[in-house]
Amino acid sequence: MSIKANLESIRKNLPTDVKLVAVSKFHPVSSIMEAYNAGQRVFGENRVQELVAKQADLPGDIEWHLIGHLQSNKVKSIVPFVDTIQSVDSYKILEEINTQAKKIGRNVKCLLEIHIAKEESKFGFSFDTCRQMLDNQSWSLLDHVTIVGVMGIATNTDDESEIRKEFELLSAFYQELKESHFNDRSTFKEISMGMSHDYLLAIEHGSTIIRVGTSIFGEREY
Ligand SMILES: *Cc1c(COP(=O)(O)O)cnc(C)c1O
Repeated sequence: MSIKANLESIRKNLPTDVKLVAVSKFHPVSSIMEAYNAGQRVFGENRVQELVAKQADLPGDIEWHLIGHLQSNKVKSIVPFVDTIQSVDSYKILEEINTQAKKIGRNVKCLLEIHIAKEESKFGFSFDTCRQMLDNQSWSLLDHVTIVGVMGIATNTDDESEIRKEFELLSAFYQELKESHFNDRSTFKEISMGMSHDYLLAIEHGSTIIRVGTSIFGEREY
């Protein structure tokens, strides 16, 4: 199937209030243009260098999301153009994004990445480290970032009940934070969860942003 046909079949099952991020990592600019020409405007990359290089070659009205781990020394290179950083997993990185955004008068949307999978290698806050970060009120003074929600990656498994359990945990944690720390902030409204093999489950559990690569662009060649 073509990229255009893949996008159409995904959009068919997508509630209108769920955002589709087309994850284009490892795929060439020409594939991104194919998706762009089929109307897709939101793209996600997980490596900073790849994101910066592709952004320079592509139309300026693309909404770029960083979905992979971010190191402090690389923040500066994406802050001028990135729409959302989905992979914020420490106060330190949030502070650095704020510092760089302030210098150029921008405000960058951020999601708090929460570790929900059983695998140990994934990045992200634990529920407790995230609570601690928010309990210390410093984050609320950062004027050039907006924490718009949470992001999580479920365990890579065929066990549907495990995936459901993890999505339920993230959804419940989002609700908890909304009540405990973001009560007066209508901007805290996103739950980014669901990839090619589990995005329908994720939507059932309240996802507002899905991140889909393989089902749009095909298998990646590493
Ligand atoms: C690669 C990636 C995706 C997309 O995965 P697919 O299985 O190809 O849909 C989603 N989220 C993150 C964080 C990723 O790194």
